[in-house]
Amino acid sequence: LLLAYDPARRLARVQVNIERALVNARMIYEILDTQPKQRDNAGAKPIRVTDGGVEFDKVRFSYKENVPVLRGVSFRAAAGKTTAIVGPSGAGKSTLFALLQRFYDPDSGVIRIDGQDIAGVTKQSLRQSIAYVSQHPYLFEGTIRDNIRYGRPDATDAEIEAAARLANAEEFILQQPQGYDTLIGENGVTLSGGQRQRISIARAIVRNAPILLLDEATSALDNESEAKVQQALDRVMDKRTTLVIAHRLSTVVNADHIVVLEDGLLVEEGTHEDLVRQDGLYARFYRMQTEKAHSLLEGGEQNSDETIPTEER
Ligand code: ATP
Repeated sequence: LLLAYDPARRLARVQVNIERALVNARMIYEILDTQPKQRDNAGAKPIRVTDGGVEFDKVRFSYKENVPVLRGVSFRAAAGKTTAIVGPSGAGKSTLFALLQRFYDPDSGVIRIDGQDIAGVTKQSLRQSIAYVSQHPYLFEGTIRDNIRYGRPDATDAEIEAAARLANAEEFILQQPQGYDTLIGENGVTLSGGQRQRISIARAIVRNAPILLLDEATSALDNESEAKVQQALDRVMDKRTTLVIAHRLSTVVNADHIVVLEDGLLVEEGTHEDLVRQDGLYARFYRMQTEKAHSLLEGGEQNSDETIPTEER
């Protein structure tokens, strides 16, 4: 279970991470792609998002024939609330996000947003209603302003700056040589992990989509950066339907609803209190995390950085 503190286990994950990076690159490319050139199903209509409630209904999916990844998953992510998705590595958490954005379609079952089967809506309208903040934000070579504007190409400078402020990014942006017009990337300045995350959050704020998908970072930031990123995230999550692949214990404990996936099946769901009472997989994760945090503290470590497990299988 849990985070690979052990360097050897980290190495074993390199291959997986490379594959994941490729999938993420594709997701990012497509989510930002605002051209309606993707083929839609016959009769597809623009989605009409009212509240932003999301429902997975008996969803089955496999990337390769006879290797099921989701084996009949049903749950609801309530409008305007935060649903945390937890479970061991390979359980299918990222696949839920890929299906919700229609990078793939389920083999059977239905995904609905405000009651509409997403198979019947245009991909462009679907993706415009979703903002995705990944663990490893993709920033392209260009100005900071353009990187934020990527969330919504017609955003005004004033909207970009307001988003940067909410994302706790403005302070460091204004410290750069050309402020918002500073180039980042190979020929420009290098930003820290926490700064990159805040640019990506600003991008999501500018997008102003009713549904937010968040893949929480596993890598620890320094305490100050962590607090600023968390505050920015709290702001972007507020009043949006948020689905978060959660790694931080505090995110999970504070979520309105928790969905526990294991091996392509939803094995438990409820609030933190419900799940601790059920004394199943989640309660075990939770105990291991809190014990680990205590033993780290007793061992004199400064920052226990409590995180939720991604079990190696
Ligand atoms: P993690 O916590 O490690 O990110 P996860 O719960 O998000 O894991 P998924 O990334 O959804 O799990 O992967 C579920 C299964 O599907 C894994 O066995 C994975 O290897 C496989 N998988 C994921 N993406 C692809 C792909 N593009 N092609 C083939 N198999 C894939």
